[in-house]
Amino acid sequence: MRFDVITIFPEIFNSYFNESIIKRARKKKKINIKIHDLRKYTSDKHKTVDDRPYGGGPGMVLKIEPLYKCLKAIKKKSARGGSATGGKSKTILLSAKGKTFNQTLASHYKNLDQLILICGHYEGVDERIKKYIDQEISIGNYVLTGGEVPAMVIVDSITRLIPGVLGDKNSPKDETFSKSKYYIEYPHYTRPENFKGQKVPEVLLSGNHSKIANWRQKQSSTKKA
Ligand code: SAM
Repeated sequence: MRFDVITIFPEIFNSYFNESIIKRARKKKKINIKIHDLRKYTSDKHKTVDDRPYGGGPGMVLKIEPLYKCLKAIKKKSARGGSATGGKSKTILLSAKGKTFNQTLASHYKNLDQLILICGHYEGVDERIKKYIDQEISIGNYVLTGGEVPAMVIVDSITRLIPGVLGDKNSPKDETFSKSKYYIEYPHYTRPENFKGQKVPEVLLSGNHSKIANWRQKQSSTKKA
């Protein structure tokens, strides 16, 4: 799967996308992440990506022309033979006003060939972008400085669902939200057996796999929201 992220702060992604599971997924070519610097799609010498809002008011608004040019370039490249050739592609605008992202959406998106993520900033993006996107997505009911953290959240949550990304293929099967939106996974313990008087439940030390499975099932089901 290919992720194309459009941003005015490309360096924000350098660290997160080059560590841990995401780094390995890229190396194994399970995913391909391209970060697009919106300023490269401007035509003035100051590389202007934003302007004041019509009608007045605080803040700046991301201009439509660089976004349009960037989207056009991404789509042209994909059509020419990138990983998204002829495949399923979606373009998403990150926005606090959008549909709230969740595990079910992550699971749907993992079947795409390409996900294009537009990170807004300042007051947001010129409304006319709506003509060029498929969906507006929020990662929760709060307002962030920009769409970069939401883009990382979305890329991360989809990537770990792609077969072959996690070391154990069973990892995503039993975890929180995997069976239903209310499902909460059972608790985990590791060494030491006794930490300042807090002991690991005996059943987990028993070696009896069916008892352990029963215990885990009970623990997860009692924690439903
Ligand atoms: N004026 C906007 C509003 O009232 O909805 C908030 C703009 S916010 C400061 C700047 C950018 O951050 C947005 O354009 C969006 O891309 C991103 N953003 C902020 N909160 C977000 C959230 N909860 N989910 C997804 N993106 C968010």
